[in-house]
Amino acid sequence: MLKIDSHTHIIPKDMPNWSEKFGYGDFIYLQHHKEGFAKMMRGNQFFREIKENCWHPEVRIEEYQQFNTQVQVVCTIPVMFSYWAKPLDCLDLSRFLNDHLAALAEDYPKQYIGLGTLPMHDTELAVKELERCQKIGLKGIQIGSNINDENLNEERFFPVFEACERLNMALLIHPWNMMGEKSMQRYWLPWLVGMPAETTRAICSMIFGGIFERLPKLRVNFAHAGGSFLTTIGRIQHGFDCRPDLVAIDNNIPPKSYLGKFWVDSVTHDPLMLDYVLKSIGSKRITLGSDYPFPLGDLEIGKYIDDMDLKQEIKEDIYCNAALEWLGMTKNDLL
Ligand SMILES: [Zn+2]
Repeated sequence: MLKIDSHTHIIPKDMPNWSEKFGYGDFIYLQHHKEGFAKMMRGNQFFREIKENCWHPEVRIEEYQQFNTQVQVVCTIPVMFSYWAKPLDCLDLSRFLNDHLAALAEDYPKQYIGLGTLPMHDTELAVKELERCQKIGLKGIQIGSNINDENLNEERFFPVFEACERLNMALLIHPWNMMGEKSMQRYWLPWLVGMPAETTRAICSMIFGGIFERLPKLRVNFAHAGGSFLTTIGRIQHGFDCRPDLVAIDNNIPPKSYLGKFWVDSVTHDPLMLDYVLKSIGSKRITLGSDYPFPLGDLEIGKYIDDMDLKQEIKEDIYCNAALEWLGMTKNDLL
């Protein structure tokens, strides 16, 4: 069975030192301190150590094939978004990353599908780079759950979503720049608590802001099974019903009616939760995802789904059909 991993991250092995190039800012650069490993540095601060499976296409293929996966959707690591940088500098960095993704997809057309990154804080530059991403063969883009603390329903971001729909580009929303990060440094809380909340923030902003109403053909996938959105949909719907004066001010369509309209990935680490997600939005809207190669991901790439007692058609939807529809691709593109 074709298995497409819809959520993985990659970074070029060699990147410019953008802090030196631009003369400011804590841009990420890599220090290759020992064979097969690199330190990700944020300015002069150590951010995390990564292994060569973060950049080496063949090492990755060897690893993911062990879990019967044939294709990875690749995008940058969210810390690379750099929406805080000057827009033209962020564009420069985005172009570098996007060219790397496009080259990878060109060299390995059956193994890698690329999603680009954009200077989202400058709409005009973002739309131009999105158009270029489409021309160089990327199938979509990945953006953050907020853009410099602004929610995705802000009118300034709408032209980017509109262009995604027009250009048939898929959209992956990934949590980053987590709310409350400074006040919850201990226990990895930005990742464990902040990220699921961020994704919920993104989904609610897009629903209540009416984005899906205005762009019915926009295809959006939300990381980590939609964060805490699906498990709090009862509360969100009830809030909409009891305080429409606060919630339904820009869109009067009930939030529950959007279940099944957008995609989420399968990164739940929990069969009971995946079963709930299946019941909530259906197998056509769940894409196999791993968050490879990071430790918080499902690095057995859906083995827990293999072990679940699900019909073959349901597994096939999760493993490939849902992702193909989200990406606007067919099996023939990959076989
Ligand atoms: Zn991720």
